[in-house]
Amino acid sequence: MGIADHNRAVVLGASMAGLLAARVLADSYTDVVLVDRDDLTDREDADGHAAWRRGVPQGRHVHALLARGRHILDELFPGITEELIAAGARSGDVTGNVRWVMDGHRMPKPHSDMLLLSMSRPHVERHVRDRVRALPNVRFLARHDVTGLLTTEDGSAVTGVTVVDEGTARPLPADLVVDATGRRSRSPGWLKELGYGEVREDRQAISVGYATRYYRLRPELMADEVSIDVVASASLPRGAICAKIEGDRVVVTAYGYLGDYPPTDPEGFLAFLKSLSATDIHDTVHDQEPLGDPVAYRFPANLRRRYELMPALPDGLLVLGDAVCSFNPVYGQGMTVAALGATVLRDHAARPGAPRPGAFFTDLAARAVDDVWGMTTGADLAFPGVEGERTEELLREQEYLDRLLAAAAHDHSLLTAYARVVFLVDPPAALAAPEIQAAVSAASGDRTGDVTPEGLAT
Ligand SMILES: Cc1cc2nc3c(=O)[nH]c(=O)nc-3n(C[C@H](O)[C@H](O)[C@H](O)COP(=O)(O)OP(=O)(O)OC[C@H]3O[C@@H](n4cnc5c(N)ncnc54)[C@H](O)[C@@H]3O)c2cc1C
Repeated sequence: MGIADHNRAVVLGASMAGLLAARVLADSYTDVVLVDRDDLTDREDADGHAAWRRGVPQGRHVHALLARGRHILDELFPGITEELIAAGARSGDVTGNVRWVMDGHRMPKPHSDMLLLSMSRPHVERHVRDRVRALPNVRFLARHDVTGLLTTEDGSAVTGVTVVDEGTARPLPADLVVDATGRRSRSPGWLKELGYGEVREDRQAISVGYATRYYRLRPELMADEVSIDVVASASLPRGAICAKIEGDRVVVTAYGYLGDYPPTDPEGFLAFLKSLSATDIHDTVHDQEPLGDPVAYRFPANLRRRYELMPALPDGLLVLGDAVCSFNPVYGQGMTVAALGATVLRDHAARPGAPRPGAFFTDLAARAVDDVWGMTTGADLAFPGVEGERTEELLREQEYLDRLLAAAAHDHSLLTAYARVVFLVDPPAALAAPEIQAAVSAASGDRTGDVTPEGLAT
């Protein structure tokens, strides 16, 4: 479908989901307007690094871009991987150049052929934003607050939004509105006011706390490694990630589950790092030059809004990114799920006629959200204090994954197969393939056939 087939699309929120939505809509709409309440100039901190902004406070904390997300970025913005590296992002192999420590055990470092890019969140967002800005039919409306929807009189279609600029409200008409305003999206409230009822919300309380501190990178630090990841486990539900990023810096994010929040005073922060199942990150940074004090973030619950279950929805309104689903950040999935969602939006926008919300949300759930939600909530149920139903099937899967990881310490093909799933390149069902089950059994006993592909996918 050519550009002339649709007129104006308005995207609410110019963070990762909004930027990627604008990129794909630019292929099908004559005019794409990105609205954000933040100032979107390329602000820099005192040292000249891309700075975090108020609307994306999580941007101060470690942000991993999973391999699948990077593939999609490269498809939407050819050459962006090289551009990010040229501008300072660190790169390496996802398993070959990362020190993975699980339950105190250092995993081997085989090559996975998956490239890891390590950079700050403001770095990737800024480069994506610059690429979107260069599109001739995309405009940015920064420092504009979206306060409500415009609809037809009977409420059956959304026809735009109201934006407020320095206290003055004005209508912004649109053929399509895409809400990418993040976890605090107001679409559920707006839909309720219009008479569509409640959007079902699925929540899983995890009370994860983050604390993050930056350090100056000295050349000898971590040698050929891009990052160290000491993973939390059921026996010790706290962990940390230490990653080299642009600007010759190292970012260290410590995290704890269920209210075990890492302290933000410098001594307490280091003591927390020392208390993990391995002291590698503490030992790496304890005598390094910090750049500022630790800062905190709290993430109360995994949250999924089930638009695909709504009996009716108005035409002209779609929702994307964290506004639909926001996941425990320790798994690093949010930007990749936003990118997967953008590919679903691209397909629906390219069809003749206006996108149909029901079909869009059904597809979004199936292609972008279901598997990742299943992986995240399933993994979080491994922590005994997290509430939720632990079905027989889930317990079997957890036990299988435990055996697979134990076997992966010796069988490198299992480690890379696991990494391909965790980095969202392969679906979870890939770990139930007969050859993987056979390798797990060979390493750990005779339990082949325990796990079905369907089980691992949900
Ligand atoms: C602590 C933490 C760590 C994370 N780590 C990772 C990671 O390692 N890897 C990863 O992939 N993901 C990570 N995520 C998730 C990731 O940040 C998000 O998934 C990603 O930013 C996509 O979100 P989004 O674009 O949907 O919304 P957001 O990033 O929340 O952006 C929403 C945008 O909407 C704007 N906005 C909001 N309301 C209005 C309004 N009324 N009017 C105008 N503008 C408005 C805001 O200014 C903002 O720009 C992490 C999240 C957290 C909380």
